[in-house]
Order: sequence, then C-alpha cells, then structure tokens
Amino acid sequence: MTRRRKPRCDLNRESFNRLLDLQPPWEVVALDIVHEEREVRVHIAYDGTDRLACPACGCRCPGYDHRERRWRHLDTMDDRTSLVCDVPRVVCPEHGVMTVTVPWSERLSRFKEWSE
Ligand SMILES: [Zn+2]
Repeated sequence: MTRRRKPRCDLNRESFNRLLDLQPPWEVVALDIVHEEREVRVHIAYDGTDRLACPACGCRCPGYDHRERRWRHLDTMDDRTSLVCDVPRVVCPEHGVMTVTVPWSERLSRFKEWSE
C-alpha cells in the first residue's frame, strides 16, 4: 500500500513576495505556469500611485502611464522564470517622462531585462 504525501506548503503569491523580498507598494499579484512554453511568470504590480518619484532627481511627480516590462530570473526547476510588471512612468518637470526604478533590478544584478 502506498501512502500519499501531503504537500508541506503551497507556493502562492505571499511565498513569492518573500522569495523576491518585495515590499509594498510592490506586490506579486499573480503566478502563471505556462506549461506549453515551459515558463513560470510572476506578475508584479505597483500600488503606490501617490508615491511616484522621478528616478533621476527623486521629486514627487504625477503618473504618466505604465509600460509592461519583463525580466528573466533564474529558472524554476527547468522552466524559464520571468517577472512581468506594468512599470509606472512619471512626468518630471526637469527630466520629462521617466520610468520609475524597480527594486529588483537595483538589488539583483543577475536579473536581465528582456525588453522595453
Ligand atoms: Zn526628475
């Protein structure tokens, strides 16, 4: 007779928030495992439109729009793993339209951005 093991924990959004060390207003909002593409997609959202700042001078600026950007992370098992985020852009009176800095690209140099 075989015994089925109960999983010890479920990987969920909170798990990935911890693994990525994300702090509010950045948050993992969804996880997709795309079997046919052998890819794990971690979707991150920014919920801090009242705290937007220019990445060049740090002044608080109004939001302009969002651009989807993707970063490649280390593989999960053998599946490619990517971070996907609609990154806010701001309008700075001095620097114009600027993309806000995301915490994971500053902290972890192994992240490689795929595309704009
Ligand atoms: Zn600025």
